[in-house]
This record gives sequence, structure tokens and C-alpha cells, in this order.
Amino acid sequence: MEGKAGRPGWEPRLQISLWVYGYSEGVNSGRAIEELCEWEAGYQWLTGAQVVNAHTLTDFGVKHDKVLEELFVQVLALLSADGLITLKRVMQDGTKIRAHAAGDSFRRKERVEQALKQAAEQVKAVGAMSEEETSRRMAKARQRAARERQERLERAVEEFKKLVEEGKDKEKRRVSTSDPEARVMKQPDGGFAPSYNVEIDTDAESGVVVAVGVVQAGNDFEQLEPGIERVEKNLGQSPDQVVTDGGFVSRDNIVAMKGREIEFIAPCVDEAGKGESSYEGRGVSAPYHSSAFVYDGQSDSYRCPQGKILSYEGKEERHMQVSYRYRAQRSDCQGCPVKSQCCPGNRVTGRSVHRGEELAEVREFRQKMQSEQAREIYRQRAQVAETPNLWIKAKFGLRQFSVRGLRKVGMEALWACLTYNICVWMRLRWKQGATVVLPA
Ligand code: SF4
Repeated sequence: MEGKAGRPGWEPRLQISLWVYGYSEGVNSGRAIEELCEWEAGYQWLTGAQVVNAHTLTDFGVKHDKVLEELFVQVLALLSADGLITLKRVMQDGTKIRAHAAGDSFRRKERVEQALKQAAEQVKAVGAMSEEETSRRMAKARQRAARERQERLERAVEEFKKLVEEGKDKEKRRVSTSDPEARVMKQPDGGFAPSYNVEIDTDAESGVVVAVGVVQAGNDFEQLEPGIERVEKNLGQSPDQVVTDGGFVSRDNIVAMKGREIEFIAPCVDEAGKGESSYEGRGVSAPYHSSAFVYDGQSDSYRCPQGKILSYEGKEERHMQVSYRYRAQRSDCQGCPVKSQCCPGNRVTGRSVHRGEELAEVREFRQKMQSEQAREIYRQRAQVAETPNLWIKAKFGLRQFSVRGLRKVGMEALWACLTYNICVWMRLRWKQGATVVLPA
């Protein structure tokens, strides 16, 4: 629309300034910025007392993702040139931000397909009606709304394919008809809500956000390597050390960080004897705890205190180790004189024991995390990693996305992080007695 009669073309630099200023003041909608341009001194100073149209601002805010990513990287380059980013230590954290979708907008596949059929018919009907409409504008608005609904539902059908690939139970497969890419995620207050997971990497020394990504996964286990890759893409190098909370700790991540020569600092998850807790927590006498069962590596089996064999049954992949399960014959246990002390609750199976196997990398990680030095580094995590998350939510007001879909919410998160970095930059330069000059 820019350049057409009736709506002036606005300089991209001005629109960027308005968005950054808006976010810094907790304003993240084009309509609110348009209103503020009419009377608020900061916006008036930026625009020369002119009012920038909300549609222009909104379109600009979500259309130019590549340009915004480039701008984010340019600001990082300037911060780097100022010596403010060292990448000696990066802290990664994920934070859930609510999607622009209602909790009751999630439907099963059959319902979505049915709604899509109706939407397609609606698009045809609205197209036919438009000839008779008294107002062409109204007709166009209706056509656009019907088309957008159809497109959203088409995306919703596509999202079901992703849920199948992710291995989600058929019974649990539901997609939102208002934002198909949103996922129901657990919130910090224990409730569940349609959300996106925003992964933020922060340089520990300066507090600058060096990478941001938005994902549909509700947990962080698979987000560490993508986070590191974003840091590398933005700054051309990897951090020396990465610090996370326990949500990122897994064998795969420990091995991957070792392979990348990045020191990984995170709390240890103790899974030793996890499978046994079901027995040992339920009144099993000490002489029958798993430590009393003897493993024979040659036959890959255990021998119980009564001399019966527990054969290999299967394995469970845990976060830190692989756990191998061995089980006694049901007939051996049912007729055993000490059953009431060994496995009193087992009525249909024999007693089982678990053997955990840890990789050398995991053992090394576990050992390192017992040192006071590693614990001291970890203690700094919350303050560094959670500051941008809190700032973005509490000060910039980004508790819920105002747009829909991964690409657009990614841009909204990037605008917020860009603004955050500029605020941090100004504070750091102000401390040094210097000013900030933004890229041309
Ligand atoms: S209950 Fe089963 S596993 Fe336990 S001692 Fe008796 S035979 Fe062995």
C-alpha cells in the first residue's frame, strides 16, 4: 500500500524506531502505536508529529523477517565491536509465551476437516455474494475473512501430520483452529495453555541476548543444539561454555556439547536405581534390595538371593542413562518363601531389577557437577538467564503473542529481544559515559 495515493510511504528506519520504542514502553500493537502517535511526545518526536497508519505498521512488523534477523545480527555485531559480547559463557533458557488462541479452539482431525469443508463452501458463497454487496469494501473484508479462515484450517490439517511424526497418541491429537501451530504447554503456575516456547541464549558477561528462537516443543531437551547453532549463525563462533537448567540435561546433550568442545554446566539428574524405587519404596526388606541381586555379565542376567535367575527383559532410555530391565520367572516368585519381603505387591509378574549404564561423557559430567566451581557457576544461572525472559514479559508486556503462526510469533519475539538488547546496550554505554549509535 505504501506509495499509493492517500497513504504516505513511511521510512523503514522510522517504522523500526517506532516498534523498538513501542516495545520498550510495553506497546506491541500497530493500532496502539498509531493512537500514541497522535499525542505521546516520544512517538511525535520520532514521526515529526505525524500519525503512522496502524495497517502499515502491523504489516511492517510481521512481513520482513529476514530484514529483522539481519538487523538483530547487526546490533550484535556492534555490541561485539564494543567488546560487550565475549561468548565465554552463554546461558540458555526457554520461556512459554501464550499463543493468540483460546484453550477451547483445539479440535480433533475429523472436526477440523469438517470445518475446512464448510469454510471452502463459505469462500465460494461469499465470492458470489460480493457482486450484490452495496459496499465493495465490506464485500472484500468478508472475502478476506473467509479466505483467511480457510487457510488457517488448511494449516491445521497440515499440523496433524506433524503430530503424527512427533509420535503423539492418536487420542491426544488436537490442533487449534485459531492458531494451528500453537501447542498446549505446561505453564509455570502448573496450568496448561496454548503457547509457544521461546528459547533465549544470553551472554553471561553483558546480559545481551545473543540468539532467540521460537519452537513448538513444550520441553527443552532438544533445544540446546539448535540454540548453539543460532549463536554460531549470529556471531560466527560458539560459546566456550553453556549453562542451562535441568530441563536441558540429557545424554544426547552432554555428548553433543563434548563433541562441540563446549563446556556444559547444568544440574545432574540422579536416575540411579530409579526403576527400583517402586520396590524399595514399598516396604521391601533390605536383604532384598536390588544391591542384593548379583549380575553376571557373561549370561547377561541376575541371580536373586534365593538363587533364581532374572533374565533380560528390555531397556528404557532415560535422560542420563540407559536402564536395562531383568525379570524373574513368575512361577519362581509366586512359590518363593520370602516373596512377602522381596516383592509383596507382585501378583502377576516376577520380581525385576534394573541395571543402569552410563556413558563415559555422562560420568565425567556428573563428576564435574559435583565440584564447587561448577556449582558456583550454576548458581549464577537464574539471574542471567531469566532476566531477559522476565523483562520481556513484565516490562515489554509480551505475555501473549498478538500474532499467529510460528514465523510471525518468531518475529514478535525477535522485536522484543532486539529492543531488550538496545536497552542493555544503552545502559552499558551510559555506564561507560558513551552514547549508542544504531546501524544506518
Ligand atoms: S521372590 Fe523371586 S526374586 Fe525374590 S527372592 Fe524369591 S524367587 Fe528370588
